[in-house]
Amino acid sequence: MERKKAYLLFSGGLDSVIAAKLLKRLGFDVVGVHVTSPLFEKEVEKVKELADRIGIDLKVVEAGEDYLEMLKNPVYGYGKNLNPCIDCKAYMLRKLKEVAEEGALLATGEVLGQRPMSQKKDAFNAIEKLSGLKRWVLRPLSGKLLPPTVYEEKGVVKREELLDLKGRSRKRYPEILKALGLDEVELPTPAGGCLLTEPSFAKKVKDLMDHDELNWENVKLLKIGRHFRVNGCKLIVGRNREENRKIRELAEESDYLITVPNIPSPTALLRCKKEPSDEVLKKAGGIVARYSDAKKEKEVKVAVYRGGKLLTELTVQPIFNLKEFSITG
Ligand code: SF4
Repeated sequence: MERKKAYLLFSGGLDSVIAAKLLKRLGFDVVGVHVTSPLFEKEVEKVKELADRIGIDLKVVEAGEDYLEMLKNPVYGYGKNLNPCIDCKAYMLRKLKEVAEEGALLATGEVLGQRPMSQKKDAFNAIEKLSGLKRWVLRPLSGKLLPPTVYEEKGVVKREELLDLKGRSRKRYPEILKALGLDEVELPTPAGGCLLTEPSFAKKVKDLMDHDELNWENVKLLKIGRHFRVNGCKLIVGRNREENRKIRELAEESDYLITVPNIPSPTALLRCKKEPSDEVLKKAGGIVARYSDAKKEKEVKVAVYRGGKLLTELTVQPIFNLKEFSITG
């Protein structure tokens, strides 16, 4: 007899592991679908190791530019910071559907009431409606508490085989894990989380949306350095050698690179929509000088490069009051 197939959103968290094992126990061949992006990244190697350990296949799917389109204007708005959880979950379900084989069961490891914004009954409804998958998503961890899905109606799964987990408590997890033949301590735990829920990162994304193009290359830049806005230009100052290297690597031909020559100094990237005035370059240089080993000097010489060539050298005063420039406050 042909085995049934289930495609499961697989974050690598414990709930998705339990969902995978439960579906396997119900006779499904499980394919975990791990959606990743620079905004919500887990250690993919560890996610793969975890999938191997519990005996499921894994597909890793990169969120596309369409994710960023959604992020600009989510139908259900944002959570506490810039996290559009309902639209984000709907996006992930659409990706799940895209990679799933025709006729396969679709599932997630969500638990009713575990998260305030996206895991209430009405949120589940909204997510399904937005993804075009109304009643086509099985949530086996809380299935007994939720309205029947199409799979139950068709007899593909039975209500009594599902769990009735609710809320944030993990009191019942050891017993459930044991029943599924799992030992939490032995499972790899992939690190990582969602940057959109972090207040300072959310401010940087908001600033990017307000001033520049929201694309993945620009999002990657948000993950390095200190971020400033100088008269409309964006200034990113490296915090260590590795960030300085990344800044040089991610700089585009039209960007300006600023550093203090012959003195330990950060590398900084200045990105402007139009040619910056000397005043802007001096302010940017003053900020870079403030983070260099010459910060105690009254005047510091900074070098400005563009397209790999030295453009100019300027004498600046280190700037210590950064409040008006700082993006993260
Ligand atoms: S926390 Fe982040 S990754 Fe998770 S659903 Fe919300 S926006 Fe998406």
